[in-house]
Amino acid sequence: MEKYPVPLVPGPVSIPQEVLAAYAVDYGSADMESEFFELYESCERSLQQMLATKSQVAILSGEGMLALWGALKSAVQPDDRVLAVATGVFGYGVGDMARRIGAQVEEAGFGYASALDPQQVADIARRFRPKLITAVHCETPSGTLNPLAELGEIAREVDALLYVDFVASAGGTPVGVDEWGIDLGLLGSQKALSCMADLSMVTVSERAWAAIEAADYVGYDALAPWRTGVADRYLPYTHNWQAMAGLRVALDLFEAEGQEAAYRRHADVASYCRDRLREIGVELWPDSEEISSPTVTAAVVPDGWTWERLDGELRKRGVAVGGSYGPLAGKVFRIGHMGSQANHDLVERGMDALAEVLGMA
Ligand SMILES: *Cc1c(COP(=O)(O)O)cnc(C)c1O
Repeated sequence: MEKYPVPLVPGPVSIPQEVLAAYAVDYGSADMESEFFELYESCERSLQQMLATKSQVAILSGEGMLALWGALKSAVQPDDRVLAVATGVFGYGVGDMARRIGAQVEEAGFGYASALDPQQVADIARRFRPKLITAVHCETPSGTLNPLAELGEIAREVDALLYVDFVASAGGTPVGVDEWGIDLGLLGSQKALSCMADLSMVTVSERAWAAIEAADYVGYDALAPWRTGVADRYLPYTHNWQAMAGLRVALDLFEAEGQEAAYRRHADVASYCRDRLREIGVELWPDSEEISSPTVTAAVVPDGWTWERLDGELRKRGVAVGGSYGPLAGKVFRIGHMGSQANHDLVERGMDALAEVLGMA
């Protein structure tokens, strides 16, 4: 494996040395189990602050997709109606996942360079009467950020639960779980938190716990055991000390910087990245201050270039950016400036290399 000195891939992101150091400690001893639960509870409290919620936060061993699948399978039963609000690869993907577990799915679908329109979502929800509405905050493959503030009210009006993927936004931009009425909020460790890809976090509201109890789903990814598991000191599988200790360090770093400062750093770096791309003459995807995400910037692969060639030239200069997926594969590339990578100097070096590469075309 080659290590790139300018890591700008939108996940997994570069892991700070302090977080890595937590993995080099041997915590393993049955005697320490109560300490593990105390560590878990302190991470849960910090996550509640970060996400502005009183909901319990289930912390599971496994990467982000585990949160997406676990919350869906735990709350949705076959033939339940699910309204998937989709503006990109993950939004449409969650709809497909719900279909595969037997739900009746309808999409509130929008273009891959746009944000959701709450009015259209409300119209479909009133007609379709879903049990669950799904949405994605930051659509990482298209660099967009969806406005979520009105979805909670729509969900309450039609008596649906609101499921939101904020895997690629939380920690880099404000997320208000309680204010936005999010019942199942999904987070992974390898994006703005800048940990390894080894933990998933799910905020679960009281309404969501009731649905989970009714669905009675069992499986390795089931959320149900987390309702009382931590209080009872009894989780369904051996947890990962190193990952939890790494998460604690990451949350300490976030708290030491302060939420406002962390969000400002992300916004400033994102704005700098967009300015540099425009200056270099690269088209942004989409070119919109309003809906572009502070954690990742997407741009169109320039005319005369393939993604593979662009990627190859950048990697020769030690710069790793991301390609994209689905309909955007080969057409869009992405600069991931979340967590440890929301760093002005890093993005500057990446943009300098891009300017040099495109200049030699
Ligand atoms: C990264 C990501 C996930 C989780 O993916 P993993 O590969 O499991 O880390 C889910 N949703 C979004 C929007 C993401 O960016």
